Amino acid sequence: MKVNQKWNMPDLKAAKQRTKKQVTIEKSLFNIPSEVKNIGVGRKYYLRTYGCQANERDGETIAGILEELQFEPTTNYEEADLILLNTCAVRKNAEDKVLGELGHLKYLRQKNPDLLFGLCGCMAQEEDVVDTIIKKYKHVDLVFGTHNIHRLPVLLYQAMMSKERTIEVFSKEGEVIENLPVKRFGTHKAWVNIMYGCDKFCTYCIVPYTRGKERSRQVEDILDEVKVLIKDGFKEITLLGQNVNSYGKDLQVEGGFAYLLEEVAKTGIERIRFTTSHPWDFSDEMIDVIAKYDNIMPFIHLPVQSGSDSMLKIMGRRYTSEQYLTLFNKLKEKVKGAAFSTDIIVGFPNETDEQFQDTLKLVDHCKFDNSFTFIYSPRVGTPAAAMEDNVPMDVKEQRLQELMKHTNHWAKVNNESYKGKIVKVLVDGPSKKNKDVYSGYTPQNKLVNFTGENIQSGTIVDVEIIEAKSFSLDGKAIKVD
Ligand code: SF4
Repeated sequence: MKVNQKWNMPDLKAAKQRTKKQVTIEKSLFNIPSEVKNIGVGRKYYLRTYGCQANERDGETIAGILEELQFEPTTNYEEADLILLNTCAVRKNAEDKVLGELGHLKYLRQKNPDLLFGLCGCMAQEEDVVDTIIKKYKHVDLVFGTHNIHRLPVLLYQAMMSKERTIEVFSKEGEVIENLPVKRFGTHKAWVNIMYGCDKFCTYCIVPYTRGKERSRQVEDILDEVKVLIKDGFKEITLLGQNVNSYGKDLQVEGGFAYLLEEVAKTGIERIRFTTSHPWDFSDEMIDVIAKYDNIMPFIHLPVQSGSDSMLKIMGRRYTSEQYLTLFNKLKEKVKGAAFSTDIIVGFPNETDEQFQDTLKLVDHCKFDNSFTFIYSPRVGTPAAAMEDNVPMDVKEQRLQELMKHTNHWAKVNNESYKGKIVKVLVDGPSKKNKDVYSGYTPQNKLVNFTGENIQSGTIVDVEIIEAKSFSLDGKAIKVD
C-alpha cells in the first residue's frame, strides 16, 4: 500500500516552539464535505482510548464525529470495520502495549479485507512511533495527531477511498477548535475541557510536545457547555486541563482559573471537580473559591513528584518541597475536610537513597488519601531522556515497593476515619457481579461500594460507612435524595 504523500511527519523540535502569538479560536473549522457524509452507513467502529482524562474527552469527540458519519459503535473488535486506538505517550510500557495490540489485531484483516486500522492520540505526535508504524505496522491505514481530530472525516474518506496510508500529524502550538461533535460516554458525569496543552516543560514529560502550547477556551464557551450538561441531567463535571491553574493567562482573563471556577460554581451544577493543578500556579484566590462553594468538591489532586529539592530542580518542577508543603498546609486548613491525591516518580536519573527518603518524609507529612506512584520512564525527545538513567531497575523497584507501603498505609488510615460516618455518594450504578451492591463516589472522591435496593444511577444517596479498605469504603444506603 502506498503512503499518502501529503502527510506531515511529527517533529518534536518544531513542537517545542512557543511564540507569544495569540491563539486563534476557531468556531467553524469543523465540517463534513457532502461526499463524506454517509461513509459510515452499515459500518461499525471499535474505539479504544488509553491514558488520561484529556484523552478520554478526545475519545468522546472522535466517537461524536464517527457517529455523525453514520458509523455505529461496537465493543467487539471482531465485528468492526474501523479499529481506532486513541493512545497515550506518557509511559513507555503503555506505548508497548498499544504496539502489541496493533500487532495482535492484524489477523482480523484476513477475515475482513476492508477493515481499517487507525492510530491517534499522543503516540501519533512522536516521530519515533510514526516511523515505527510506517516501517513495521504496514496494516495501519490511518494515523492522525492530537491537532488533527477535526480533520477526521476527510482523512478517513481518503484512507477508505484511495486505499493509501493516510498520515496527518501537525507539530504545532495548536488552536482552540469549538463546536466539534461529542458523544458523552457518561450519563451523569462529564468532562469539560477548559484549556489544552502545557507550557511547563517538566524535563521528563512528553505532553508539551504532543499537545501544543497552553491555550484556553473562552469563559462563555465553557459556561455554555456546562449549562447544556445541566439541562441534559448531568450531576458532576470535571474541568480538564494539563494545568488548570494556568487557565486564562493567554486570554488575559482577569482572575484566571479562580474566576472561571466561581462562574462555573454559580451555574448551580451539583458537583464540580478539576484536574490537574500544578503546585506552582495555585493562587490564594483559587483556594478561597474552592472553600466558598459547596458544589466544588473538597478533593485536590496536587502532584508532588518528589520530596527532594534537588530532584524537583532537575525535574523542572519550579517549586521546592517547602513551597509545596506551605501550599498543602494552606489548602488543608482552608478547605475543610478535603482529601488529597498526588503523583510520585521514583528512580529519576541520579536519585539517591537520601533523596528518596525525602520523598517518604513528605508522604508521611501529607498522608495523602491516594497516590499514583510510578517508576521513571524515559520519553524520547525530552531533556530527561538525555540524562544517564543511572538508578538500577532493582533499586527503582525496591523504592517503589517501599513508597507504596507508605502511601497504602495512609490511604487506609484516612479511610478508617470514615467508619460509622454518613457520606453522600453520587451513584455510578450497580456492581456487575451483584445487582444489590452499588458503587459511587463521595465529594472527597472516595469510592464507596454499598448495599441498597432500587437505586438509580446518577442519584445522590446517603450511605453509612461500615468498613474501610485501602482503596474503597463499604457501606449501606440509608436515604435517597
Ligand atoms: S505540568 Fe509538567 S508533568 Fe504536567 S503536563 Fe505539563 S510538563 Fe507534563
